[in-house]
Amino acid sequence: MTQQLDTIFGKAGDTAIDPVCKMVVDKANPSGGTAEHGGTTYYFCSTGCQHAFAEEPAKYL
Ligand SMILES: [Zn+2]
Repeated sequence: MTQQLDTIFGKAGDTAIDPVCKMVVDKANPSGGTAEHGGTTYYFCSTGCQHAFAEEPAKYL
């Protein structure tokens, strides 16, 4: 599925930015799962990014 950038950023409630690699992630189906930090939920494109964030969240925020 191809999405235009304005579509992605126009639907802020449906997507999130992976804090590790800055990829757009579908909140409804994050490939790398999620992690909570400081009361905020973060979404990841892959488990590799999720693990990197979990180990050192301050590095990515
Ligand atoms: Zn990622």
